[in-house]
Amino acid sequence: MTNEEEKVESLNQVLAYAKTAPFYSNRIGNNKLTSLADLKTIPITTKQDLREQSPYGLLATDNSLLAQYHESSGTTGQPVSIWYSAKDLKEITDQIATSGVTMTNQDVVLIRFPYALSTISHFLHEAVQTCGGCVIPADSRTTITPMPKVIDLLSRLRVTVLACIPLQAIMLAEMATLLGFDPRTDFPNLRAICTAGEPLTPYKRDLIEEIWEVPVFDNYGMTEIGTAMVDCQEQQLHLFEEMFHIEILKDDLQNEVKDGEVGNLVITTLRNRATPLIRYATGDLVQRKEKKCLCGKGHPYVIRGRKEESLLIQDQIFDIYELEAILSPLTAKRFWVAGTIDDQLYLLIEKENDSDQVSNEYIKVLEDYYKVNLFIYLLDKGTLYDRSEPLAFGMKAKPRYFLTGTELKNLLAERGILDDSKER
Ligand SMILES: [Zn+2]
Repeated sequence: MTNEEEKVESLNQVLAYAKTAPFYSNRIGNNKLTSLADLKTIPITTKQDLREQSPYGLLATDNSLLAQYHESSGTTGQPVSIWYSAKDLKEITDQIATSGVTMTNQDVVLIRFPYALSTISHFLHEAVQTCGGCVIPADSRTTITPMPKVIDLLSRLRVTVLACIPLQAIMLAEMATLLGFDPRTDFPNLRAICTAGEPLTPYKRDLIEEIWEVPVFDNYGMTEIGTAMVDCQEQQLHLFEEMFHIEILKDDLQNEVKDGEVGNLVITTLRNRATPLIRYATGDLVQRKEKKCLCGKGHPYVIRGRKEESLLIQDQIFDIYELEAILSPLTAKRFWVAGTIDDQLYLLIEKENDSDQVSNEYIKVLEDYYKVNLFIYLLDKGTLYDRSEPLAFGMKAKPRYFLTGTELKNLLAERGILDDSKER
């Protein structure tokens, strides 16, 4: 069988299985696919479908087989329910265990993701134990483990791997410094950082690696599908090919983008999961790299983040990648927010040192390149992320990089920065 024939065969199997879920019973026809192109005859599953079908409409298995429940609520507050069987969990954690970070029974892994209802902490927890390692469950949303406590655990328990969202790794370094530790030298057992939960740009990876002097390995997934990609030893994201079929589609969600272009990630679970998802539009933008990875696992992927989390100014898209590319040559780049007012780009960055500044020449170069008006303001340390109360620092929900126009205006007004001046 060719690769395509094998793929079509496994898709036909999962489609027949998915039809046992109430939601898919009428959406999937009885005719088998004869080619990958036939998959397009099945309608896209949207996040709204998941909300409407929760908690039981997507369940394709007997209740007796269920082992774990997860939920995501997003901005609408209407929850999405995802059920996992013990077999699902094992398949996912076995795949996570193949990560290039290569955990062993010598590892002590501090997991700093939320545990309540979300998936990554539980899956990683299980994967570490699958590899024989020891887990320190230091939930990121509980008052039991505020940042100073995490620094204490990192230092006292000879933690070898820290797992958290990328920005949290930067915040923990700030907290370590505030407590008198040097992140580079005072955690000699730390050998790697595993990230997940937000797009890891190459700039942020470099920044975290520079701050902690250890390599960073990324994971990509979401509550709905679990983990779908992990970094190989070359620090490139690879899809769990046997578990997922993906399509990278244009904004019409019909036609594929050209190879190497950024598009909408649509994912189909290939295993008989308790909650199968057929052509699920994840809302994330992804890019398949044109060059194969040195590790031998084929083409790696780049996750560009959520489509709604970007700014559009005169047909120019500013997503986290673009904005962190702008920030990367600056001396202050750890904590930032961006937004637009009157089709002009505003980038507000916390100062790291009193001497930090942004040259007008650099802003001019950027304006010429992007053909947009750009304002970069350096704010006092602590403006965006308050460090005055160590127990509260970094304990909020996911970080926000994009402000609304009103939020931006309020922040600028509070800092006494006039909108109409070009002064930076
Ligand atoms: Zn690779």
